[in-house]
Amino acid sequence: MKPLALSPEDIAALGRRAEAMLEELAAISAEPERLVRLYLTPEYRRAADLIAQWMQEAGLDVFEDELGNVRGRIGKPPYLLLGSHFDTVLDAGRYDGPLGIVAPILAVDAFSRAKQEPPCGIDVVAFGDEEGSRFPSTLSTSAGVAGKFDAKQLDLKDKDGITYAEALKAYGKDAGKISSAAIPASEAAGYLEMHIEQGPVLETAGEPLGVVTAIAGQTRLQMTLTGEAGHAGTVPMNLRKDALAGAAEITLLAEKVAAEFKKNSMVATVGRMEVSPGAINIIPGVVRFTLDLRSASDESRNRAIEQFERQAKEIAARRHLGYAADVIHRIATTPCHEKMQARLAEAIKAVGANPLKLTSGAGHDGIMMSAICPIVMLFVRCRGGVSHNPAEYASPADMGVAIAAFIRFIEQFKPDLKS
Ligand SMILES: [Zn+2]
Repeated sequence: MKPLALSPEDIAALGRRAEAMLEELAAISAEPERLVRLYLTPEYRRAADLIAQWMQEAGLDVFEDELGNVRGRIGKPPYLLLGSHFDTVLDAGRYDGPLGIVAPILAVDAFSRAKQEPPCGIDVVAFGDEEGSRFPSTLSTSAGVAGKFDAKQLDLKDKDGITYAEALKAYGKDAGKISSAAIPASEAAGYLEMHIEQGPVLETAGEPLGVVTAIAGQTRLQMTLTGEAGHAGTVPMNLRKDALAGAAEITLLAEKVAAEFKKNSMVATVGRMEVSPGAINIIPGVVRFTLDLRSASDESRNRAIEQFERQAKEIAARRHLGYAADVIHRIATTPCHEKMQARLAEAIKAVGANPLKLTSGAGHDGIMMSAICPIVMLFVRCRGGVSHNPAEYASPADMGVAIAAFIRFIEQFKPDLKS
């Protein structure tokens, strides 16, 4: 099959159409002043209908599964799955998620306009619950498509006390039929997601597009340091057991450990700290604080956590503080498939861009999809690396080139990656 002709004007037009669609979708919100679109809400319904309409216009056969994911198919299985999510965080930007839905719709549309069938079966998936903004869930709708939905999530409650199961019912879905949302692994040839980078790596490098090598694994610790509260004026410095001074030293330790392992894209953050009693004239007696550590390598993440904990205990002991820590969250690294990466890099080169390799520090639906098929992600440069914020921005020019790369990827895709 001859590749679709894509002139620079065609590519620019794809970017402008993406921008217009993203603007239209961003107008569908629970609140007039900011973008809030939570899973299975009335505005979620309106957005799902708009996405379904776009899919139909592009020539896809549309259906909605029992989790409220909007699906559009063309051709026969095994399918190349292309998708992202359309739920949002509170006060969201318009690109995080929807770009990965609009892009494959426009790619399929380009084939339809040229009166061609894409050379492989395609299943465009608009996922519903990625952000976990309504229920304290994680990637539950992509888990459903991968046949991994955890039924315990049905009891999770939103802030109004409505359970996941009740919300599904009110949306017209049958929680007893969630398993029907799953695509059999034999019908899933691969999963490709386009997403804004949500970090500054591409912008700093001056490149519009990146190939994701892995979605970083994470370990989160909840730590407590226990010292002794005392009078800020009367206890001499050498007789203190200051829990906050200890926590400060351990926070700097987190930075030091991340720097030592930096070749594995390690990042470490102490993001929350509660100081007790928390008064200007009292030596802090107890500090509860967290560590979030991520890396593209499980092996180095585990070694880093071990080293961090050993040295944190040494700091606590030297300062005569009690140290306790619990692992509150742990998720393994999801590597992107080598051949998918290579083919995506080729597709990016074919449209004149330079594919930069990078790790995703944020979690994505691909984590779940990797249970049934090889995955890869295409990252698009975003301004200032800003996301989860109304200031989020990707340029129409970059989005146009990214969609053109999607078209080239589809043109050369073969469902032969699992062998
Ligand atoms: Zn996202």
